[in-house]
Amino acid sequence: MSKLFVANWKMHKTIAQTQEFVQSLLQQHWPTDRQAVICAPFTALTTLRNEKLLYGAQTMHWEEAGAFTGEISAPMLTELHCRYVILGHSERRRDNNETNDAVHKKVLSALRHQLTPIICVGESLEQHKNNETTAWVTTQIQTALDGIASNQLSKLVIAYEPIWAIGTGITATPEQAQAVHAVIRALTSPATPIIYGGSVTPENIAALMQQPDINGALIGGASLAADSFVRILNYK
Ligand code: PEP
Repeated sequence: MSKLFVANWKMHKTIAQTQEFVQSLLQQHWPTDRQAVICAPFTALTTLRNEKLLYGAQTMHWEEAGAFTGEISAPMLTELHCRYVILGHSERRRDNNETNDAVHKKVLSALRHQLTPIICVGESLEQHKNNETTAWVTTQIQTALDGIASNQLSKLVIAYEPIWAIGTGITATPEQAQAVHAVIRALTSPATPIIYGGSVTPENIAALMQQPDINGALIGGASLAADSFVRILNYK
């Protein structure tokens, strides 16, 4: 399986800033078995086409159309040439009341429309301290994947993102991340890409990628500048 490096830009970059970033990134080189995916704001996605880079959205609704003001659906994203969609990011779970059941409905819709869902799971600092990580992440995954056939498990991505590591500068150690990835592997399949997110930088990516069940990374802050993103892609 290719290694997957997903940029989660959140609410950053205008169309002009996106084009500047993409032009700069496309002049750089990285190994062909490392796939870069840019999850940009919807406005920027209207201007992007899959080439060496692939694109994704940061959320979507589970319905195809309807009275859901401000929402966007899977067919609208595939029309924009999106291949991926991030679902259940902890910021959306926190700020938009995205529940495990909502994530499940979104996963089913994404798969129906040939979009690869990147399903985010991860525990809070309190849960981490109370040793509740395995139970919490297991529930998140079992709910998100309820009823999904085993042959679909290569068509989705799980992102393990401990909430205490997102945007804090504190990364899980490679061993801590691997321990949870092993739990996720047992709940999915050898063909499921499982990526780590939480303060990934050019400095810490190599050690994380040495772990057997870490197949890539979901990167926030360090994906906003083309030079740091490409340094992550070129880790040794
Ligand atoms: C994220 O938002 O998914 C994330 C991992 O952010 P950061 O890399 O900035 O911690």
